[in-house]
Amino acid sequence: MNTTFSCVGCGKCCNDHHVPLTLAEARMWAADGGQVIVLVEGFFGNGLGLPVQQREHAERRSVVVRSGTSQAYVAITFAAYNVGPCRNLDEDNLCRIYERRPLVCRIYPAKINPHITLNTANKDCPPESWEQGPDLIFGGELVDRELAALIQRSRQADRDDIQTKDAICRLLGIRTTALKGDGFTAYLPDMSAFARVINQVSTQPLAASESDWLFHVSGDDIAGQIQATGAQVATDAPVNYAFISLRAA
Ligand code: SF4
Ligand code: SF4
Repeated sequence: MNTTFSCVGCGKCCNDHHVPLTLAEARMWAADGGQVIVLVEGFFGNGLGLPVQQREHAERRSVVVRSGTSQAYVAITFAAYNVGPCRNLDEDNLCRIYERRPLVCRIYPAKINPHITLNTANKDCPPESWEQGPDLIFGGELVDRELAALIQRSRQADRDDIQTKDAICRLLGIRTTALKGDGFTAYLPDMSAFARVINQVSTQPLAASESDWLFHVSGDDIAGQIQATGAQVATDAPVNYAFISLRAA
């Protein structure tokens, strides 16, 4: 199917969207005085938590960790914490840091995950933005080569950054993940500690990850499946994170 698109500048994508950031962008966000949210999800090599067709993309942007007697994959997203309008959005719906805005802001509404097809109904862009402009997708392929290159850069950054993000999380005491598909664990680190740690890992060699991860899950049924792999489930009430459940109520 072909899709046309032209941004109408409504600014909706700059409201209530936690914008995923590369490590360099997260450092910039912190230096600018912004808040970063850390979102964590994990899965297992036996297929628990991961649709088989998404495995390659998900594995490449994940770190292999220990949980109990099991090995798991953990994906860590650093994102701009945007509740309401982004701190960089001005009164005219223009971006104050347009020239250095994050990669994901340049890519939206295109998809970064190769296993997810663009569904215009799930995007914030109003109907008129899809009814005008040049082809965004033609014959199932992205038309704009520059946009395709930005998506490749974003995927590569995810792969390049994951070990360092794991080290940053360890230094910040972030060691509880959700199961992919069941939810996310979400952390709002103190930003002066975040900035200190992100600078620390850029100047010191990374130590191998040695601390165990726990899984926070939505219910006993999922907990049983995780424990059957040998992995550990969090039993204490969360102290430094929130669990965002994706389970239907
Ligand atoms: S950085 Fe700019 S483009 Fe990105 S969400 Fe904020 S205002 Fe929008
Ligand atoms: S929501 Fe879509 S149309 Fe509106 S500013 Fe963002 S990219 Fe443009």
